[in-house]
Amino acid sequence: MDHFDAIAELDRQSVLHPFTYLKGHASGEGPVPVIIEGAKGVRIRDARGHELIDGFAGLYCVNIGYGRTEVAEAIARQAYKLAYYHSYAGHTTEELARLSDRLLRMAPGRMSKVFYGLSGSDANETQAKLVWYYNNLRGKPAKKKIIARERGYHGCSVIAGSMTGMNFYHDHMDLPVSGILRTGVPHHYWGAMPGETEQEFSQRRADELEALILGEGPGTVGAFIAEPVLGTGGIIPPPAGYWAAIQAVLRRYDVLLIADEVICGFGRVGTPFGSHLYGIEPDLISVAKGLTSAYIPLSACLVGEKVYAVIEEATDRVGPFSHGYTYSGHPIGAAAANAALDIVEREDLAGKAATRGAYLLQRLTQEFQQSPIVGEIRGVGMLAAIEFVADRAHKTRFDPALKVGPRISQAARERGLIARAMPHGDILGFAPPLVMNEGEIDEMVDITRAALRQVTDELV
Ligand code: PLP
Repeated sequence: MDHFDAIAELDRQSVLHPFTYLKGHASGEGPVPVIIEGAKGVRIRDARGHELIDGFAGLYCVNIGYGRTEVAEAIARQAYKLAYYHSYAGHTTEELARLSDRLLRMAPGRMSKVFYGLSGSDANETQAKLVWYYNNLRGKPAKKKIIARERGYHGCSVIAGSMTGMNFYHDHMDLPVSGILRTGVPHHYWGAMPGETEQEFSQRRADELEALILGEGPGTVGAFIAEPVLGTGGIIPPPAGYWAAIQAVLRRYDVLLIADEVICGFGRVGTPFGSHLYGIEPDLISVAKGLTSAYIPLSACLVGEKVYAVIEEATDRVGPFSHGYTYSGHPIGAAAANAALDIVEREDLAGKAATRGAYLLQRLTQEFQQSPIVGEIRGVGMLAAIEFVADRAHKTRFDPALKVGPRISQAARERGLIARAMPHGDILGFAPPLVMNEGEIDEMVDITRAALRQVTDELV
């Protein structure tokens, strides 16, 4: 057994991995654990020296690319200076105050304050508590239900996991909890009726949302949470008119809008936030991932003026805001975020995501539109997806047992590219670092072509 086999064996015996077939992993019958050892730019390298293009930026998070030493240096500087102090009872650090001011200036809508956590899940958990707290404090204790979308992804903690609209995050884990309602996914390709335009389809989704709110009673519905571009549910940009129609309904019934910008925030869709692109005016915003480009865990809830004014005013009556984590506003996280966002701004990564994302989509369309098993190619900024179908004319899906999406993803991986098989249907997703250049995009497309050809040949 060599050194790396020994590490793999230690892992098998000791790590409970997310999204892994546990028995195969523990017994050694499953895939060999991949020991990731280094990374630079858009490429990661395993311990045996194999290089892979990371077409998914880790989990849509390493927006500035790997190996940016100035972020590592900012982390080290802060660790030497002050590794930790809490942010309870008005304690702060220079990095934290600067980061918060900066986020408020970058953000869409009228944001007032920033609360910090460590993950997208805990940010959305906090958002639910803010909705409940806000409505309790303004004398509407029944206005608590939160509407989320089918195939929305908001994390996997208890409330955020309940907001997530995918069954396998719930099954056997006693989720969803009560008080989370579900509305339809805005995917025109599968959801539209024959001849229905995107605008009409968007309006139908908004009408369904309105019917749901009226059915439940507007006095019981506190918030609606959604990603500007639906992410893990399949990388689905909204159809034309969707956000305008949805926001009109929310305003009519005094329902707060939580924009889950965990993927879209900080340039991924070609604008600073997804909300900027779609004219979304959120009351609350969740961010994580691109906030530090995942150099260290950090998330934030941006709290809009409307909500903040109520909770500030109530402090004299109900006491201090009683929510916070040991690591809320961690100084090393704040320093990492400031350094990562310096890069995002200096290198105009939002602008680059717009132009290179357009190039990526154009290349994917050019290469794969004619493939007999490609149903839809979609994307915005540096988010793109190819959806595979058994029959284009009749829009029929493949038998899930064929695992077409996972097989194409695996074939790409064997050729040196990570592109993710998304969990619903047969979808290959791309969310590369925003620093990926056109040559690297071409490499990604070439590998995808070879992978698709292999699996198409196997299917005939
Ligand atoms: N919200 C969105 C839109 C996400 O994509 C994710 C993670 O992928 C989360 C929330 C949860 O974030 P985390 O995995 O950091 O808890």
